[in-house]
Amino acid sequence: MGAGSNIAVVGAGIVGVSAAEWLRRDGHSVTLFDRVMPGDPEQTSYGNAGLLARTAIVPVSVPGLLGHVPSMLMDPDGPLFLRWAYLPRLLPWLVPFLRNGREGRVREIAAALDTILGDSVDQHRALAAGTPAERYIETGHYAYLYKDRAAFEKDAWGFAIRREHGAEWEEWDRAALVERDPHLSQAVGFAAALTDHGWITDPGAYLAALFEAFRAGGGAFRRGEVTAIDPGGAGGTLTVGGETSAFDRIVLASGVWSRRLAERLGHTVPMEAERGYHMMLENPSHRPPIPYMVADAKFAVTPMEAGIRCAGLVEFAGVDAPARMERTALFERRIRSLYPSLEWEGVRTWMGRRPSTPDSLPLIGESTRARGIWFGFGAQHVGLTSGPKTGRLLADMIAGRRPNVDMTPYAPDRFDGDL
Ligand SMILES: Cc1cc2nc3c(=O)[nH]c(=O)nc-3n(C[C@H](O)[C@H](O)[C@H](O)COP(=O)(O)OP(=O)(O)OC[C@H]3O[C@@H](n4cnc5c(N)ncnc54)[C@H](O)[C@@H]3O)c2cc1C
Repeated sequence: MGAGSNIAVVGAGIVGVSAAEWLRRDGHSVTLFDRVMPGDPEQTSYGNAGLLARTAIVPVSVPGLLGHVPSMLMDPDGPLFLRWAYLPRLLPWLVPFLRNGREGRVREIAAALDTILGDSVDQHRALAAGTPAERYIETGHYAYLYKDRAAFEKDAWGFAIRREHGAEWEEWDRAALVERDPHLSQAVGFAAALTDHGWITDPGAYLAALFEAFRAGGGAFRRGEVTAIDPGGAGGTLTVGGETSAFDRIVLASGVWSRRLAERLGHTVPMEAERGYHMMLENPSHRPPIPYMVADAKFAVTPMEAGIRCAGLVEFAGVDAPARMERTALFERRIRSLYPSLEWEGVRTWMGRRPSTPDSLPLIGESTRARGIWFGFGAQHVGLTSGPKTGRLLADMIAGRRPNVDMTPYAPDRFDGDL
């Protein structure tokens, strides 16, 4: 499709803003729709751990996961929570999710994740270049912290898959760790420090800055709830506040909320909210020099402009259940055992919803049931990392430029008829 088309993007999280900006750079007239302003805490893109986790290619569902679930659910310091009354509604997602944890399938998923994550630091730089968003991108190591080398070796399988896809890391013993971060407690004795990573020092402000650059370049924004997307002609119509407008193309990038709109088009979209939390420690007495993953508790500790962000946990309770902020007490206990002398001035907590599919892969591409309507959602734990590339792939495909990657693993109709 040539430049100058009238395109709507629904959802102004990292995926929507990225798609809108790449489409705008292609010369289209682009309107971004959202019920909140970009950078709002209601967005998943606001409160994540900020990691440009380009080697996070091993999905959560791996061989043996099911055996660990009961102990994780029983452990008050464990990373997994389930609202039991929600289990019957979760099962149609959970069963295929666990089935995708077979070794061969994990390798296929890892390869498909590597395609959208591998060059993510460059993709963020290309999107942010020349805009005020640039200053929020930091680069360096990203270290997985362990009690000792033996604990790291239990994760050897996942690291081997990363290595097959080009990941490199340095192995730091306690002396090497303490040289870089003298405040670390005795509880940490080993780290696998992945090289050439990146992180965002304020994800909400970063998104708002990208959005302002889009607007400054001529992009339009309309605030409101999109209640319907309908196919029509070569594109479709959007309904917002009872008013319907037509577009040549529509991109659906509404995170976990995309499900309802996509299912109205006739697709099956088994997407769940993997709810996660953060605790922001404001004005801390010291900060980690680089982001860490506390491997046994599975949460990230990221140095940010406002302080230290601890982020992680997985809670299954549906999209709309109220947040249980008491879950974040776990972060406080664990950060104290990581940094016994740490002090801070204030705490802010947050809950967000990772848009997760049973195969841990996003839906990226044109609807096969409603031509002219394109999907860009479902990036689970790594949507900040993959957002700019997803936006660029969408802009390429909409322009008729064939991406030089295999898009089959992300096909929007791959779950049709599954439920
Ligand atoms: C605790 C936690 C830590 C995380 N850490 C990382 C990390 O370190 N690195 C990483 O890569 N990823 C991380 N993630 C995942 C990442 O944040 C998400 O995958 C990503 O933000 C999803 O972006 P999105 O644009 O798809 O969705 P969102 O950011 O949720 O944006 C969707 C937008 O659509 C809008 N919307 C929805 N429905 C409608 C409608 N009907 N009408 C109008 N607007 C609508 C919403 O208001 C929202 O603004 C983390 C997630 C959590 C919860």
